[in-house]
This record gives sequence, structure tokens and C-alpha cells, in this order.
Amino acid sequence: MKLYNTLSKQKEEFHTVKPGVVQMYSCGPTVYYTAHIGNLRAYVCGDILKKTLRFNGYQIEDVMNITDVGHLVGDGDSGEDKVETTARKMGVHPLEIAKKYTDIFMNDIARLNIKPAKHIVPATHCIDGMIELVKTLEKKGCTYRTSDGIYFDASTFPNYFQLSKGSLEGNIGGARVDLGEKRNINDFALWKFVGPNTIQKWDSPWGVGCPGWHIECSAISMQYLPVPFDIHTGGVDHIPIHHTNEIAQTETATGKKMCNFWFHNEFMKIDGGKMSKSLGNVYTMDDIINKGYDPMHLRLLFLQTTYRTVLNFTFEALDAARENYRNIVTALRRHRTATTPTDKKVIANLRQAFTDAISNDLNTPVALAVLHQALKQPDSRDIYDLVTKEFDQVLSLSLDTAASTAPIIATIPAEITALAEQRLAAKKQRDWATADKLRAEITTAGYQINDTPDGYTLTPLK
Ligand code: AMP
Ligand code: ZN
Repeated sequence: MKLYNTLSKQKEEFHTVKPGVVQMYSCGPTVYYTAHIGNLRAYVCGDILKKTLRFNGYQIEDVMNITDVGHLVGDGDSGEDKVETTARKMGVHPLEIAKKYTDIFMNDIARLNIKPAKHIVPATHCIDGMIELVKTLEKKGCTYRTSDGIYFDASTFPNYFQLSKGSLEGNIGGARVDLGEKRNINDFALWKFVGPNTIQKWDSPWGVGCPGWHIECSAISMQYLPVPFDIHTGGVDHIPIHHTNEIAQTETATGKKMCNFWFHNEFMKIDGGKMSKSLGNVYTMDDIINKGYDPMHLRLLFLQTTYRTVLNFTFEALDAARENYRNIVTALRRHRTATTPTDKKVIANLRQAFTDAISNDLNTPVALAVLHQALKQPDSRDIYDLVTKEFDQVLSLSLDTAASTAPIIATIPAEITALAEQRLAAKKQRDWATADKLRAEITTAGYQINDTPDGYTLTPLK
């Protein structure tokens, strides 16, 4: 299996430290808001990676953190803690905010068929490990104190730029950056002192405070995995600062390489630009579902692009993914009930083509092309089984469920089905007002309409 490694900037033959087992760490969400579909792309990419590894016979030992403390509003070492700020605005305890958004996140990833990591670790559960790690760094002479915290002196780590070479924007900063008491632009907080009004705080040898953001991932990965471990995942935005700083901490503390393969998903844009609250284009999983799409349409949209390509989200593209999904399911329904066998050689060739695509740095667009090629074969249950039992182990598009469910209940009168079809057409045009009006008409006539990945179901109301 070949995997692109950000450390070497090339595709490499994948290997593990422990034979047959992949030990991996993923940077988890900062739980002060509902993850948007860009964040969710990162976790779908990680999920495809893990499922491809399983498909190739590996077992997975995986860990993901939940950032419930330490991520500052300024994204660097300035500003207030993001979870704490939201908690203050809402007048509740930060842990309540963290729990609320962790639950939403877990529900969102379940809806996208993302298998959760074996160990999901909130940062607040590992404060002792972080303090120990800062103590180790201090003993090695790599830290210094300022009036607001304990900092890592990046100049003590000669290999500081090993991961970010070629993408240093975040580190360079420029002349106008206010260093405060920091000695160097690349130095970063390991422990921040906090005032009496901060709720989440802990005693430490340096004073009451809270951990920096980067120390949590080094401490948690060291607690759950050996050093080096096999794969570390996250979005490309983490390359120049967060992951660079994780490497500096772990490698300074242990004297060993932190991780062999660094896996980074590219970003998702919306309508060719950045997602931002002010533009009103930050969509969550609920927004997508409320507009009549199924999570599987979004998952398929993600898979139509490789994880290393910037994905431009538009509703037109999501409509096309929905159409693609429906075509796949319609073809699968035909194959499902067919009794003619497919030549074993044809099946073996398709299986090989799929495996080659997915094992070549997770080339999901090519893997999907192989799926379509399979569906074009004469109708056969063998094709159905190949796609739903084998390919879908990796793709996780709920194809068996979708193709086994009847799309429309037979006893529904033709005029109700006609209304449902009109509603489907309205939704396609994103004419939500008409779609809502038609739903109301269908309900008044005594039927319930539910959206499904490939259309809708109608059931008589009791
Ligand atoms: P955060 O909750 O901000 O720590 O982000 C969670 C994950 O989402 C990280 O791995 C980020 O790199 C990733 N991420 C954030 N924004 C995007 C985006 N627009 N597209 C893809 N991944 C993203
Ligand atoms: Zn991290």
C-alpha cells in the first residue's frame, strides 16, 4: 500500500512498526461549536484511511483527542480558551459546553458512517501527563518562563522545520507580529497561567493554569501509543504550527522520532472561497439534512475527490453526488435480484482494480470508477455482493441498506406519489418553500413522507 507522507513530501510504501497492526493518532475536534462540513471532511478522510488499512488486513489501534481545554481564541498563544469563552457567553460550566459539542460531534460522525477511534480522550482527563511532559522538557533545558506562562524554546530543536518545509506561512509571521515576551516567533506556550475568573484550571509546579494546545496531543499520544507510532492525521492547516510543535515536544522529550507517516487532508472550500459565519456559508450536518440531503450524499461527494485535493463544496456538486448515489442504488437493486452468475475472473479483476486504486494513496475517485464499471456488468447477485460486501467495507456508503429498502410503498395512491415526486423535483431545485408546502399537502392527505438517500418513502399515517 502506498501513502503520501507529509514528512518526506512523497508517496511511500506503507509499513508499520508492529507487524500487522497500525498504531495511529488523530487530532480531534475543539468542542466549543458544532463541527462544520469542512471539519467533517477531515474525519471522513481519516475513516477512509483506516478502512483501507483494514481492507488490506491490518488491525487498527487508534486514538483521538477531544480538545476541551487549551485551544485559544487567537489560535496561537493569545486570547482566551475557546471552550471557556463559549461557556461564559452561555452562562454554563465549560464542561457542559464540551459535553454538548462532543455529543453532537459523535452523532455527526455516526451519521457519516465514520467508525469512532478505540480511545477517545478528552484533554482534561490527561492533565497530569501534560504536566509531566512539560517537566521533562524543562529538565532538558528547552523551556523558559514569561509572565503569562511556560514556553518551549523552538531554537533548541534543530529539526523544527522538518514537517513544514515548503509551507511555513504560519511560522514566519513577519516583522509586525507582536512577540510579547516570547524570545522567538516559533516559540509556543506549554503551560499558560490563568486568572481567578477562569474556571478550568489546575495546580502545577509553575503556578495555577491550563495546558497549551499542542502539549495535549503529544501527552495523549505518548500515553496511549509507543514512540514512534505509525500514522498521525489531521487537516493541512495543522502542518506549520500544531503538528510541527507536537513533533518538537515529543522528539525533544523522548529523543525518538514521533511518528513515521504524517497524513493530512486538504481543505474544503465553499463556493470557491472560505467558509465564514459572516458569509452565512458555514454548514453543519443538520443544515445538510434539513435541506433534504442524506449524510451518504455528502460522504459520496467527499469520496469523489482525493483527500489531497482541495474540495470546492457547492449545492450543485451535492445535487450531482445525490444523483450519483441514486444511480448506484438503482443499479444495485437490479443486480440484487438477478440470478445469473458473473464469471469469477471478471469479479477477481474488478476486486483487484478496486484494491489497487484504494491502496494507491486512497484514490477514491478511481475506486468509484471501478464501482461503476462493476455495475455496468450484466445483472448478477455476484456484482451486488462484490459492491455491497467488499467495496462498501471501505466506502461505507450504506449501499446494502439503501438497495434493500423499497423506495416507495406500493399501496400509496398515484396522486400522493405525484405530490412526492413534485416535492423531490422542488428539492432538487432547492425550492424549499414549495417542498415544504408539498410536504404539508401530503401530510394533510394522511401520508408521511421521509427522505432517504435515494429519494423518499411514503407511509400512511395511522
Ligand atoms: P478543529 O475543531 O478546529 O480543531 O478542526 C478539526 C479538524 O478539521 C482538523 O483536523 C482541521 O484541520 C480540520 N479542518 C478545519 N477546517 C477544515 C476545512 N475547511 N476543510 C477540511 N478540514 C478542515
Ligand atoms: Zn492535535
